[in-house]
Order: sequence, then C-alpha cells, then structure tokens
Amino acid sequence: LLSVRHLRKSYGSHEVLKDISFDVMPGEVVVLVGPSGSGKSTLIRCLNGLEDIQDGEISFNGRPVSRNSEKAWRKLRTRIGMVFQSYDLFPNLSVAKNIELGPTAVQKRAKAEVDEQMDRLLADVQLSQYKDSYPRELSGGQKQRIAIVRALAMNPELMLFDEVTASLDPEMVREVLELMLRLAKRRMTMIVVTHEMEFARRVADTVMFLEDGVILERQPGGDFFSSPQTDRAKRFLESMS
Ligand code: ATP
Ligand code: MG
Repeated sequence: LLSVRHLRKSYGSHEVLKDISFDVMPGEVVVLVGPSGSGKSTLIRCLNGLEDIQDGEISFNGRPVSRNSEKAWRKLRTRIGMVFQSYDLFPNLSVAKNIELGPTAVQKRAKAEVDEQMDRLLADVQLSQYKDSYPRELSGGQKQRIAIVRALAMNPELMLFDEVTASLDPEMVREVLELMLRLAKRRMTMIVVTHEMEFARRVADTVMFLEDGVILERQPGGDFFSSPQTDRAKRFLESMS
C-alpha cells in the first residue's frame, strides 16, 4: 500500500531522517517507536505530505507521489487519515459538523449517506449522544475518539496516529487504545506512534525502532518485544517498562 524509499528530511543543516526505506502492506499495523527527538513525528508528517522532503520517494498503491507537489498531496490526503496528540477538532463546530465536513465538502459525498455512516461510527464508539455537542463539552478521551471517527468517515486506506493518547489522563487512555485495537482487528492499515508499550505489543504486526533518524530495527511485533536485536532497542524497552 505504502512504499518509502531513501527518504531524507532536514531542517536546515540538521538531518532528521536519514535514508529511510520501508513498505507497509494492506491491513498491516506498523508501530513506530523510538526515543524523543528520533524523528517519529517528522516521518509521520512526511507520509502525509505535510513536510517537504529533500530526497527519496513515497509511493502509494505503487504510484510515486511527486515530491513536494502540494496538489498531489492534497488529493492523497483525502485517502490518508491522520490523528495527532493535540485534539484538532474545530472548536466552533459541533461534533456532527466536524465529522461531516471532510466527506461532504472535500469528497462531495451526499449528506444523507455521510450522516448514515456517521451514526454508525458514533454508535460504535458509544458517543451518539454527543452528536450536537461542541468539542469543549467533551473529555479528552471523547475528543480523541471523535477525531478518530472524523478521520474514519473519509474511508481512508491508511491511518496515521501520532501519540494520540499522550496528553490524556490515564483513565481515558484505555478507551482510545481499545478503539485503535478494534480498528486493527478489522485490518485497517495503520502506522502508529506510541509510548504505550503494552498496547504496542498487542497491536503491532511490525515494529520499527527509530533512532536519530535511522530505522535501527524492523521486526515482527512479538520478536521486537521479546528479543530486540540491538542494545539500543533493548535499553529503550527497559526504560519504557
Ligand atoms: P517525540 O517522541 O518527543 O515526539 P519525535 O521522535 O516525534 O519525538 P520529531 O518531532 O520528529 O521527534 O523531531 C525530530 C528532530 O527534528 C528533533 O531533533 C527536532 O528538534 C527536530 N525538529 C522537528 N520539527 C522541527 C521543525 N519544525 N524545525 C526544526 N527542527 C525540527
Ligand atoms: Mg513526536
């Protein structure tokens, strides 16, 4: 589904991603872990065309996306869902309007059809009663689940998650992680940045360990957690437990 070849990204003279290559298969759940500052968020942003890259190629369904072409990325972004750490719901729009906006305004789908899907998605996360609420009336965990629902309403082929539970109170973390686990069970293709190692162990088909802009390890999830190949990953896992 996604193929990255020799990706390089710098901020000024600081090279943040160094010759990154990997593939993601349809239905695969890739968990991206690594120390703070290793480049995880930058990589996620590159995969969504939110950052200019200096070298390399990103292909989607076998087709290279022309580098730094805002037009190409704008089109692609309608097929890639992304959820960040900070709740990025529109504060002045109701939950329903937040969810409907992309599918109706960007994808030009019929409102009736979108609303039907929205009702299903909201029921699925048990937030139907908040349809007419505003983001400020929701808890952090509820907001994040709505942000995920909003992304799902676009029927994305790939979901990118960057530390979506990092700013949540512990009791709200679980409900968001459970939603992501359900998505994984339904074979949604996803790339997930997380510091929740127990969750990572359960959800990952593949783990990529990033350090200093380099993929030091890429392993099946179970293998990474039971037998990391590098000392660096071993130490990272120890520091996380
Ligand atoms: P964390 O776990 O703390 O979220 P991360 O792995 O997501 O870390 P990034 O946010 O991708 O790390 O940052 C990687 C490196 O790029 C860091 O050294 C950071 O200082 C640098 N960096 C990130 N964004 C910018 C920017 N807009 N301008 C300049 N440097 C940046
Ligand atoms: Mg980050």
